[in-house]
Amino acid sequence: MFEVLMTGVGDAFSVKHWGTHFVLRKDDFVLGVDCPDSYRRALRSSGFMHKGEPLDAQHLDAMILTHLHGDHVNGLEMTACYLRFAYEKKLKLYTSHEANEDLWTRLKASLHVLWDGKDFHEQSLDDFLDVTTLDWSETHTIGPFSIEIRATRHHLPAMAMRISDGEHTFGYSCDTAYDDELVAWLSDADFILHESSLGAAHTPLFKLLELPEELQQKMRVVHYPDELSGSTFESGLRLAQEGERYVVGA
Ligand SMILES: [Zn+2]
Repeated sequence: MFEVLMTGVGDAFSVKHWGTHFVLRKDDFVLGVDCPDSYRRALRSSGFMHKGEPLDAQHLDAMILTHLHGDHVNGLEMTACYLRFAYEKKLKLYTSHEANEDLWTRLKASLHVLWDGKDFHEQSLDDFLDVTTLDWSETHTIGPFSIEIRATRHHLPAMAMRISDGEHTFGYSCDTAYDDELVAWLSDADFILHESSLGAAHTPLFKLLELPEELQQKMRVVHYPDELSGSTFESGLRLAQEGERYVVGA
């Protein structure tokens, strides 16, 4: 069994919630998925503890970055700086080849040079992050987890995931237009987070409400717009809430 700690459930424009991101934990291994604005505040505001301390960026053993939209990556610059300067630690980051190609382009405007009070020093991505790229067709091991990824129907290449500890499986749709094949790929997971948001590159809520009841029962909706907050449905489908802890394989 392992935990899914729900630290952000909002869409890109939410003023009620943090951008959708979460943390998986098995025993002491902590794996973050995505890094929205004000990442450390987002982690702390959820109320989770790790080894007697409020859950914070320094507890991460690794992070998966699903794609480069700001609501998933805006916190990465200062999280990487915080870990480097406060902990002399390079965050282990796993992402797609496509996202890795553009990641430094996104970060270098502010991170490409450091001043030590006397001289300027050129920096590279490698000075801040320890990046491993994930092939779409392979199964990857990160700590106690094995991870399969699948490209979704979205503006940018984005990663849906199936993450297993060898006994139980968690599925995540990531940002995606509704996709029957993706739902089928996720459907035998023990627990599923599926997005619902507005626009052509996202999944309308009614599509999730049309899924078999059994599937809705083990699914929580994430990445939802503020207007949906507080909604309840007659089926088993529920909105994920920040601060909720789900046990996969309970
Ligand atoms: Zn996106």
